[in-house]
Amino acid sequence: MQTKLNIIPICDWCSCPTPLIISGPCSAETEQQVLETAEAIAGIQQVGIFRAGIWKPRTRPGDFEGVGIKGLKWLCKAREKTGLKIAVEIGNVDHINACFDHEIDILWIGARTVANPFSIQEIAEVLENTDIPVMIKNPVNPDINLWIGALERLNQSGIKKIIAIHRGFYSYSGQPYRNDPMWEIPIELKRILPNLPVICDPSHICGNTNLIPDISQKAMDLGMEGLMIEVHIRPEQALTDVAQQLSPAQLKTFLDNLVIRSNKDINLLQHGLEELRSEIDHTDAELLEILSKRMQIIEKIGRYKKLHNITAFQVKRWNEVRERFIRKGALKGMDKEFLVNMLETIHKESIRRQSEIFKEISGNKNQ
Ligand code: PEP
Ligand code: MN
Repeated sequence: MQTKLNIIPICDWCSCPTPLIISGPCSAETEQQVLETAEAIAGIQQVGIFRAGIWKPRTRPGDFEGVGIKGLKWLCKAREKTGLKIAVEIGNVDHINACFDHEIDILWIGARTVANPFSIQEIAEVLENTDIPVMIKNPVNPDINLWIGALERLNQSGIKKIIAIHRGFYSYSGQPYRNDPMWEIPIELKRILPNLPVICDPSHICGNTNLIPDISQKAMDLGMEGLMIEVHIRPEQALTDVAQQLSPAQLKTFLDNLVIRSNKDINLLQHGLEELRSEIDHTDAELLEILSKRMQIIEKIGRYKKLHNITAFQVKRWNEVRERFIRKGALKGMDKEFLVNMLETIHKESIRRQSEIFKEISGNKNQ
């Protein structure tokens, strides 16, 4: 299916500094906490937008579920006092109406809501032909089409000020990240939708404060257009996501140390880059030659096994190949997990090819 979104770039609707830094507490808890946090954040020049959750989607009922509509008034006060734009998560029609009543600047849709196309469709219909900017987090599960589907539903409703937020994906182990970044997914999203602005939410990826600088730097190095970071005036007292919220001082230090690579730098370095890229293209061509040669040998082996009635998969041989490959690869400084993944992918394809050959020869015999 052809995917094309009609999107207005961030710089055409938002006068905030670049990269776009959105910061604020996971949840609005009290008026004082909102105002104190907003005022501390407003003193950090890189930050353009203040965020706070008003309705909190919690895993279990009974946990703190957000302060509700009264929190919107606190956010409006914070906007008045600081000049920061304000962003709020919405999950249903009532939330949207309340945000419109309070003239909230930017909405975002959370990861759990994006996983549900019924909710997204409903939200898209209510927002139809409004001019409000909407940020759409990735769904909890690593399904790029679900994410694209949500972006398309909103865009088809006439929402053009759209930003995708990469906040990582549920992983069973939860280690070392609360939500696995799976960088290949936002990279693929950008490949499919080059004009879509993508920012990163390192707080929900990391689940703790230690890993936030690394993840944020990686997002910047990949060319993402901004960050959404949770900050609380007293992080240790936060009612939600207590382990991952930075203090305003920590946010400032971390933003001051962030390396932002500009497009200008890339242009200056373009020549050296072109040379290296042509080396890569050449190496990729060689890699393809070698892979296709390996597959031809695999086919010969498949025919031989079929002829002599030997099973396609031989555990002893596979263990030997695997062990040698990893040992030799490691000696060349390659990552073990990468080697295992690569060899397993090649092996899976080899088994598939041999199974095809087994079928093909039996088919011929029966004719
Ligand atoms: C949040 O940003 O506070 C939030 C609930 O995030 P997510 O939807 O990514 O879980
Ligand atoms: Mn949170």
